[in-house]
Amino acid sequence: MNTVELSEFSKIIFSQREFFNNGKTKDVNFRIEQLKILKQAISEYEQAIIQALQADLHKPEFEIYATEIFSIKEIDYVIKNLFNWTKPRKAAVPWEFFSYSAKIYPEPLGVVLIIGAWNYPFQLIISPLIGAIAAGNCAVIKPSELAPHTSSIIAEMITKYFEPTYIAALEGGIETSQKLLAEKFDHIFFTGGTAVGKIIMEAAAKHLTPVTLELGGKSPCIVDTDINLEHTVRRITWGKFLNAGQTCIAPDYLLVNKKIKQNLVDGLQKCLKEFYGDNPVHSPDYARIINQKQFDRLVNFLKDGEVIIGGETKPSERYIAPTLIDHVSLEHPIMQEEIFGPILPIIEYTDIAEAIALINSRPKPLALYLFSQNENLQKRVLQETSSGGVCINDTVMQFGVSSLPFGGVGDSGIGSYHGKASFDTFSHDKSVLQNSFWLELKWRYAPYKGKLAFLKRLLGQK
Ligand code: NAD
Repeated sequence: MNTVELSEFSKIIFSQREFFNNGKTKDVNFRIEQLKILKQAISEYEQAIIQALQADLHKPEFEIYATEIFSIKEIDYVIKNLFNWTKPRKAAVPWEFFSYSAKIYPEPLGVVLIIGAWNYPFQLIISPLIGAIAAGNCAVIKPSELAPHTSSIIAEMITKYFEPTYIAALEGGIETSQKLLAEKFDHIFFTGGTAVGKIIMEAAAKHLTPVTLELGGKSPCIVDTDINLEHTVRRITWGKFLNAGQTCIAPDYLLVNKKIKQNLVDGLQKCLKEFYGDNPVHSPDYARIINQKQFDRLVNFLKDGEVIIGGETKPSERYIAPTLIDHVSLEHPIMQEEIFGPILPIIEYTDIAEAIALINSRPKPLALYLFSQNENLQKRVLQETSSGGVCINDTVMQFGVSSLPFGGVGDSGIGSYHGKASFDTFSHDKSVLQNSFWLELKWRYAPYKGKLAFLKRLLGQK
């Protein structure tokens, strides 16, 4: 393990500040070069990354490429756009400022800290790191200790390709996080649960450090009657049971129009068999639960409601079958906290107003899904609910679109990233106003006698 003492943390951050202050990271060509190095590092470590993710989560190789290694696409996107993003942008000035010009200069923040979660342990560190590099920062990264194989491979890869004075990978658990949080950073980017998010923000406040908090929550999935049933069941099954449900934007629970509920349930059951066979424990395409604590927490949920399909477990492998649950009450523990596992409660509604009221009675979710071709219904749900993002007639795919900022609102997070949003998150927009010397109007200077009437006219007053 690459753990270090407190004084070592301070030394690393100090050396990063020195490196940052020499101005090298401000050169866009340097940033592009570093992004290319990161891409090369990922391809060199591809097999090791796959093995680590399989050891930590039993992730199928297909899912590893689709949800973790796909970060290299983000590198290409950023490289293609970086010169454009870094250019100063002209800003309009009001006519009264006719002798002025205004521009906005994006500038790097300095030394940033990135703390990751365990469910997509590679991607959740590398994706924000791409943004931090693109914006010209130095970075300290701390992968999740709960995915130890991936944490170790990230640390090895980063240490091999980057000087710690520029990018340092520090491994460790809560204690390491806390020691890091005691240091002064210029930005903290955190992915994890809402409760820990509050701890991060509190620690950051001591240094007045801005934060991006990528948190979780219960993401609802509304299913209306106006759908293509076959496509709907496939898209829900995939988004929910990908990575055995351990996805921050997985549909947490279904809100289904009563008229279509039975058809949907039949379809989901059929689809589960199509995806994972009669006994998913033998499927090569189905992941396992990260650790015993999470396994025990999830097994407890199986007591709630009535299992329609699934419910089987194999503790020695931390396997929980893809499970559909009916007749849950809103008071059941499964409806009180984020599920973050392969259990899908199904709640019916008769009028969309009930579904909207339920969503609005809870903390704002990270994602909201709506399956419906009815445009009026789409408009209504968009207008009457608030969530980090929305995906209509699909699940999880919104994460893969670099032009869409990804992040939460309220309890599901603060700030966003991906593509240009990552660049903005790790940049400061410096406003620059410039006057010239060719004209000097004296109306704003003292003595003010006789000038108030002119100012009032400027303000639109008679
Ligand atoms: P977590 O909050 O337990 O841990 C995340 C990180 O915080 C880890 O690196 C851990 O070492 C550190 N940490 C934990 N406790 C700490 C403490 N007391 N002080 C300082 N640091 C601490 O989260 P997790 O269990 O790894 O991940 C699950 C949660 O993350 C879920 O709620 C999920 O929805 C959310 N999540 C969100 C996103 C997103 O993009 N919004 C992505 C993945 C996961």
